[in-house]
Amino acid sequence: MQGCAVSEMAVLIDGKKMAGGILEEVKKEVAKLKGRPCLAVILVGEDPASKIYVTRKSEACREAGIEARDYRLPAETSEKELLELVDRLNKDKGVNGILVQMPMPKHINENLVTGVVSSGKDVDGLAPENIRKLGEGGAEGFAPATPLGVMEMLRRLKVRVKGKRAVVIGRSALVGRPVAAMLRNAGAEVMVCHSKTPDVGAETMKADILVVAVGKPKLVTGDMVKKGVVVIDVGTNRLPDGKLVGDVDFDSVRKKASMITPVPGGVGPMTIALLLKNVVKAYRMQGGK
Ligand code: NAP
Repeated sequence: MQGCAVSEMAVLIDGKKMAGGILEEVKKEVAKLKGRPCLAVILVGEDPASKIYVTRKSEACREAGIEARDYRLPAETSEKELLELVDRLNKDKGVNGILVQMPMPKHINENLVTGVVSSGKDVDGLAPENIRKLGEGGAEGFAPATPLGVMEMLRRLKVRVKGKRAVVIGRSALVGRPVAAMLRNAGAEVMVCHSKTPDVGAETMKADILVVAVGKPKLVTGDMVKKGVVVIDVGTNRLPDGKLVGDVDFDSVRKKASMITPVPGGVGPMTIALLLKNVVKAYRMQGGK
């Protein structure tokens, strides 16, 4: 099984290794192209985590032979200026994909910005047309990279999704909602939990596949899952001591799960790998050979 390490309890899913394999595949694919795909990455403001994310994305692009154009704008950039930049990039034939790093400063309406990114260049899968396509079955649109990473992980691990009960905790536009749509499109029966769900534990207990995307350490504990569950932990939380952890209490849950992703080294690296795949897909959809 690609990207796994067998432990005495759950199989530990090695997202870093799996993502490394995908990045190599993308690199080989890009090397065979006549032209060079290009991703424009826009960051507004100085959010430290966002700065790290965009740097990683741009570096991964360059490593794979994809051109990365960075647009780092000051926090006081107006909504109008940002929309004008997106408009210019939409029209620029040399740019295949556009990514606007979230969160935006408070004075900018995020939905307005994601709404104007051309659907054919929307490699983050947040433009309305792509959201609609995903809801209708996912044909030929773009989906956000993190949920794509989750699904690719399940596919490569040969986890059966069809006919299984999947529970997703979190309903954000970037992770929870699209991953639920993808699991449903793949034939799972899907339950989505959120902050108002009366008894999250009663729902997670029924899950064959559990995807957690909330942003709260130890939200899911061993007594909330059934034996054999496949657990994908999307959460990334920085503890006061600087340690990075997910939303799942890894030590108690791994005793019952059949497979589990660690944090770090699970879903995070897959997100970048699938973003790059989306850029190459955009390049081809725009007629690139
Ligand atoms: P978000 O927009 O803040 O959404 C969080 C979701 O969790 C909301 O739907 C919220 O419900 C729900 N929630 C909050 N408290 C809950 C509770 N006690 N029980 C059940 N549901 C609860 O966050 P996001 O952007 O989806 O990100 C989620 C996590 O994934 C974060 O830790 C983020 O850093 C991480 N992340 C990781 C990657 C990666 O590549 N590894 C990528 C993206 C995000 P309501 O809708 O009712 O408010």
